[in-house]
Amino acid sequence: MSQQVYLDGQLVPAEEAKVSVFDHGLLYGDGVFEGIRVYGRNVFLLEEHVERLYESALAIRLEIPISPSAMITAVEETVAANNIDDGYVRLLVTRGAGTLGLDPRRTSNPQVVIIAATIALYPPEIYEDGMPLVTASTIRNHPAAINPRIKSLNYLNNILAKIEGTDAGFVEALMLNHRGEVAECTGDNVFIVRDRILKTPSADAGILEGITRNAVIELARESGKTVQEVALTRHDIFTADECFLTGTAAEVIAVISLDGRVIGSGKPGPITRELMQKFRDLTRGK
Ligand code: PMP
Repeated sequence: MSQQVYLDGQLVPAEEAKVSVFDHGLLYGDGVFEGIRVYGRNVFLLEEHVERLYESALAIRLEIPISPSAMITAVEETVAANNIDDGYVRLLVTRGAGTLGLDPRRTSNPQVVIIAATIALYPPEIYEDGMPLVTASTIRNHPAAINPRIKSLNYLNNILAKIEGTDAGFVEALMLNHRGEVAECTGDNVFIVRDRILKTPSADAGILEGITRNAVIELARESGKTVQEVALTRHDIFTADECFLTGTAAEVIAVISLDGRVIGSGKPGPITRELMQKFRDLTRGK
């Protein structure tokens, strides 16, 4: 059976799922999105993702044409229609087709698109050996310009940093904020471990408040660890015992160096490994 895409209220064959070239999602990156994982037919933390989608939409004053509960049903139906056991859902809402001017009042019919597919993961050895990181010179968007808490269709800020990373031969790049502090990576949040205490930038550091981040904070606290949401600098990463990333696609992944400087032992640390396992158990239903 061919891939079915949810578009504007119904499932259609992928090749028929088309939006207008006048859609402001295309013309201006005016819209919001989510990336969600499916594990064993279960859409992981779907309510949290839908909540963030509606918050992003609220922040850009985009009215989503269906209710959050109808959105949840639509995602589940799309996953079921495509027989996805383990995969990835891309959920997006565009501003809709309009004129060639910016004015969102002159658009109509925001498009809701749900794509359920399989996912290309990082190579397995990265999970065993950890990942080296490089700092991008492109800083994360200033929160007073485009707040990184909004998961908008305009991802050029991250893409520019990603290009710097891939040009330098890295799969992820660290982004600093406008204050020079650690913000996050191009598609992942950052944690360090120092003296058994976990630290990660707070939501107001100019980051996307990751759903994996929040799940990992909860797992860490449940197992008695202290987690602090504090400002971090590159110095804190260089001198950390451990460092790891979290994200829907990445899950939990160890970072073993930054800008050529080895972090801790240079191998995935014990607390990182413990949280990788706990996250695996959570997603694979143990
Ligand atoms: N930061 C950015 C910039 C992201 O795009 C993402 C999602 N890919 C994350 C962090 C991680 O968020 P989540 O755990 O919700 O996937």
